[in-house]
Amino acid sequence: MRKVSVFGSTGSIGVNTVDLLLRQGGREAFDVVALSGARNVDLLAEQAKALGARMAITAVEACYQPLKDALAGTDITVAAGVDALAQAAGEPADWTMSAIVGSAGLRPGLEALKTGATLALANKESLVCAGALVKASVAEHGGTLLPVDSEHSAIFQCLEGYGAQAFERIILTASGGPFREWSVEDMAQVTPAQAKAHPNWSMGARISIDSATMFNKALEMIEAQVLFNAMPEQIEVIVHPQSIIHSMVGFADGAIMAQLGPSDMRGAIGYALNHPDRAPLPVERLNFAQLGALSFQAPDPDRFPALRLAREVMDMGGLAGAVFNGAKECALDEFLKGSIGFLDMARLVAHVMDTLGPEAAQTRADYDLDDVLHFDSRARETGLTWAERKS
Ligand code: NAD
Ligand code: MG
Repeated sequence: MRKVSVFGSTGSIGVNTVDLLLRQGGREAFDVVALSGARNVDLLAEQAKALGARMAITAVEACYQPLKDALAGTDITVAAGVDALAQAAGEPADWTMSAIVGSAGLRPGLEALKTGATLALANKESLVCAGALVKASVAEHGGTLLPVDSEHSAIFQCLEGYGAQAFERIILTASGGPFREWSVEDMAQVTPAQAKAHPNWSMGARISIDSATMFNKALEMIEAQVLFNAMPEQIEVIVHPQSIIHSMVGFADGAIMAQLGPSDMRGAIGYALNHPDRAPLPVERLNFAQLGALSFQAPDPDRFPALRLAREVMDMGGLAGAVFNGAKECALDEFLKGSIGFLDMARLVAHVMDTLGPEAAQTRADYDLDDVLHFDSRARETGLTWAERKS
């Protein structure tokens, strides 16, 4: 039986992954090694029972007892804390979903890769913070990395059958988020509740806000650079408000390949779960007559400075991505707390990049996880100081 683990099973990607595992045979078809969550212990316990998981891990130490109680009477092993999470990720599995949000997903993903497993990577932060480390681990242990981000899954699918370097350009599509047409003045007043409401995709709160600032697309540019060994100038972003084309690849002969589908992450998750096969998936089928038209527009770099910052990070290299992501996560925390405004998030990140970017860019190529965490925490501290001075 195929051994699988899902880290971040209680989140938006995790719930969709569990849904597909259940639809594709559940405990009869999969030997579920580990599921993990954080505070949502009731959902985690329910998932672990439904899939007959061997282990359920909460990242939050204080949630150990509630999870233990929720799983009383079962033979499911319960554990808590970041070390337990890393240990569970190191348990051999054939396929592991990395769907924790933020840089907290990096260590479990690296532990899973050490077993030579296939890592279905939703956690784009891993590649932004530590692209070289993740890829070195894949190469060293003979594992496989399958992108789950819809854009990168699309690019991966467009490149199937061609050499890895066959493309001339990568065209990432972006919905533009809820404030695509808003003035800067209105954007300055945006509240967290407004920023969480994505027009097309149903996602976790943090990635939804990242989509509204286009920091999500910024992370995805860096993710594409790492995954497909692309030069920064080969990566383009085009706003496509309908989110039907998930991304495109251009070849030397001028041909473009695109991957299209409904805005349902089960498409990309299911692709990674069944790769290299294609299995039936419970997603809506596109009706082009009903869609009528697909439209495109250039992104506005003034209202969405995240895209410009991503270009700086790609040019800098080293651990500039770890600084960028740490600052971005800090900015989001401060915005959620109400201590900074919507547009201040990009200002905070720009300040942190100016302060720490050049140093991080000088990091030696064989950096390790501690180096990544070092810049991640310094970026957060520098960001926090900026936010405190501002409020
Ligand atoms: P989410 O917030 O819905 O879920 C996050 C999961 O991580 C939950 O299981 C939560 O319990 C767990 N978690 C949170 N903080 C943690 C911590 N500090 N340590 C360990 N576990 C923790 O997030 P999501 O929308 O499912 O996104 C997950 C990842 O997938 C992110 O990296 C995101 O960028 C990426 N992604 C998501 C979507 C989407 O449609 N939601 C699309 C593409 C990529
Ligand atoms: Mg995406």
